[in-house]
Amino acid sequence: ENFDIYSMCQEIIDELEDKAQKKNISVEFSKDTNPGLMVYGDQRRLYQVMLNLTSNAIKYTEEGGWAKIILKQKDQEAFIGVQDNGVGISSEHAHRVFERFYRVEKSRTKKKGGTGLGLAIVKHVVDGHNRKVHLESKPGKGTLFYFTLPLAKHSEQLQRNKGKKASNEKV
Ligand code: ATP
Ligand code: MG
Repeated sequence: ENFDIYSMCQEIIDELEDKAQKKNISVEFSKDTNPGLMVYGDQRRLYQVMLNLTSNAIKYTEEGGWAKIILKQKDQEAFIGVQDNGVGISSEHAHRVFERFYRVEKSRTKKKGGTGLGLAIVKHVVDGHNRKVHLESKPGKGTLFYFTLPLAKHSEQLQRNKGKKASNEKV
């Protein structure tokens, strides 16, 4: 099905606003596209993906830090990223965090709670769209998770953008 990824990103931020505020973490939406960007995919499952990634970004970032959702349009694809300046993941753990129940440093993450399923779901859903979830991270610096989705057909985009003002359109 086709859905508006731009609105979804905004909804995720709205949903997690309170959580972030409690930790004094600012959550930004960094976008390089017009509102109403239509992609093809399973809206309900991808909402869960975005929620898991963005919750993690807030959860594994110290007070006063930041998290951001990045949305870009590249050729016929949407690039979707979730970045933070949190604790990061070392390379020895990076290839395992997508495993079910895998959590880095039990003692540290124990007090944060969680089951270790969030990223397993992310991988499962994105795999189901024939895409890969990528991870770039530096311990102590932060983490970026990203993947792409195919854009909906051109006609859909036009339909969708009718009547919307392209406030951030580049000239
Ligand atoms: P759950 O999501 O099931 O509540 P969880 O957050 O521990 O629990 P995952 O979301 O699968 O589980 O993440 C697995 C592990 O990867 C986490 O325990 C954490 O150690 C690490 N991790 C995930 N996201 C980040 C991030 N943005 N920064 C640093 N570490 C992360
Ligand atoms: Mg999680």
